[in-house]
Amino acid sequence: MRYLSTRGNAPALTFSKILLGGLAPDGGLYLPETYPQFSAAELAFMRDMDYRQLAFAVLSRLADDIEPDDLRALIDKTYTTATYSHGRKDSDFSQITPVRKLEDDLYILELSNGPTLAFKDMAMQLLGNLFEYALDQAGQDINILGATSGDTGSAAEYAMRGKHNVRVFMLSPVAGMTRFQQAQMYTLQDANIFNIAVRGVFDDCQDMVKSVSNDLDFKAKYRIGAVNSINWARVAAQTVYYFKAYFAVTDSNEQQVSFSVPSGNFGNVCAGHIARMMGLPVHKLIVATNENDVLDEFFRTGVYRPRAAAETLHTSSPSMDISKASNFERFIADLTGRDTAQVAELWKAVDAGGSFDLKPSGLFEQIRNYAIESGASSHADRMRTIRMAWEKYSTMIDTHTADGLKVGLEHREAGIPLVCLETALAAKFEDSIREALGVRPERPAGLENLETLPQRVETMNADVAAIQAYIARHAND
Ligand SMILES: *Cc1c(COP(=O)(O)O)cnc(C)c1O
Repeated sequence: MRYLSTRGNAPALTFSKILLGGLAPDGGLYLPETYPQFSAAELAFMRDMDYRQLAFAVLSRLADDIEPDDLRALIDKTYTTATYSHGRKDSDFSQITPVRKLEDDLYILELSNGPTLAFKDMAMQLLGNLFEYALDQAGQDINILGATSGDTGSAAEYAMRGKHNVRVFMLSPVAGMTRFQQAQMYTLQDANIFNIAVRGVFDDCQDMVKSVSNDLDFKAKYRIGAVNSINWARVAAQTVYYFKAYFAVTDSNEQQVSFSVPSGNFGNVCAGHIARMMGLPVHKLIVATNENDVLDEFFRTGVYRPRAAAETLHTSSPSMDISKASNFERFIADLTGRDTAQVAELWKAVDAGGSFDLKPSGLFEQIRNYAIESGASSHADRMRTIRMAWEKYSTMIDTHTADGLKVGLEHREAGIPLVCLETALAAKFEDSIREALGVRPERPAGLENLETLPQRVETMNADVAAIQAYIARHAND
């Protein structure tokens, strides 16, 4: 399998070669040259597989330059019941991503039973093991530098903790996360995890990461890497649970299923799109946004208009407070039929702070072939949906999952099972749950007193020289 850049001006590479990298050198994103296809016979065979077998069936087609026995071992080590058992007490954790039936043809897909209680653990835990493996093979080590305002940073730290050839330097705004989220990260005592609280906002953290990455000498000298949402291995790992859920809610491969996906960077729903391109019988993909509705606007109007950071609203589904959907270019590449010149042209406008409109070229009409629909929700919608799920289905859901359920129900069709992806657990967003239901969500076992444990965090000004000096001091620890 060769991977090509969406912008057509970068070398073709294998899975292992793009694993540790970020953007392609031409600024585009890597995609498989063609998607592997699962035939009806293969899908029939996959129906009875467990999560690990399914992950191997899918990922061995995408990561075909990793020794199959090694890939299988990495998958088996990652997707264990022990790792993915932090959810509701009555869940069937042996399924890794169990479906929870709310009523006929309406399901929640539990993706947030991993160590940080958000769906990012599904891909990130595998990434941690893939990184360790690839670095061992190459005899290298890496210093991951990232910025987080919540779920990504903690998922990355829990995936990389204790890995002998990886260090994580994670910047977070001093006052930008919930106490629970801070405690999740700052209580990690592993020597290879460095938490840095920055006196500033998330954008200051992000700018520091960009400045360090643009310092090419520093980047090379200290082997600086990233684990952001454009990482192809993360997208690839996320395709697996679409297959798992499809088989769980159908009896035969003649049936179709719709998925509703709480979206920010378009990584999760992009994986659904790719699962469909590989042959999974997906009826509709439903993109749910909060008040930061860049993606909803696009799927309604054909205009993609990323917003400036200052225009991004702080909402009660904060992990979707995103004004530029970094994986969106992958979908547009497919929409254009992999017309790399056209993609490069469109993103020339975006990278210059502008927008594009796909109506005039007729491209917007083509979206019909991909059956993607969208909707947005507000704080009041989230509160109402959390209450509805609690009263009607006795199921407590978090604010992000509520965005997905609300928009999913608006696009539901009779006779087509609708699967709503659960992207975080309620326990992670206690204040919102208390506001909606007047109760404190139950904490998974072992996390009851998380905030009282000793914390390990360095506080720093939003100063590029300071973070560079800090990395230089610790890069060989
Ligand atoms: C990251 C995240 C999202 C958005 O996922 P994308 O892949 O960026 O679209 C939604 N909900 C939660 C809880 C998240 O952590």
